[in-house]
Amino acid sequence: MTIDLPTIPAWVDSAACASVGGDYWYPEKGDRASADYARKVCGTCPLIATCLEYALDNNEPHGIWGGLTPKQRQRLGGAPVSDMDESDDELDAPAPRGHGTVGAYNMHRRRGENACHWCKQAQAAYSREYRARKAGAA
Ligand code: SF4
Ligand SMILES: [Zn+2]
Repeated sequence: MTIDLPTIPAWVDSAACASVGGDYWYPEKGDRASADYARKVCGTCPLIATCLEYALDNNEPHGIWGGLTPKQRQRLGGAPVSDMDESDDELDAPAPRGHGTVGAYNMHRRRGENACHWCKQAQAAYSREYRARKAGAA
């Protein structure tokens, strides 16, 4: 399969996917195994937040970026997805491993990164709950 790769931003050199070959990030429609593998690697990538931001900013219509499929990015305001695309509702999985917790959010902050989408959500849910508890106790 030939793919028109987008212009590769410079930070991709330190990306977790840079050392992994293959088409995992551009799986065929319904190829869940490849997509799952790509998302697992994304979960270990220090650039997960930067990468997702880049894809959203550039309306990147194809492939997995920042651990999200095109359809998942579309829900966050990304480019619309065509029927021909590899996107798949079935792939709408939870956060990549190692993300989506308050602990992982703090880890992002300690590393000086922007937290990824899932970690931000976990942190936001935590502070909502914390404020509600405080308000209840007052
Ligand atoms: S988040 Fe995933 S796609 Fe993006 S640079 Fe990291 S490993 Fe690659
Ligand atoms: Zn995260």
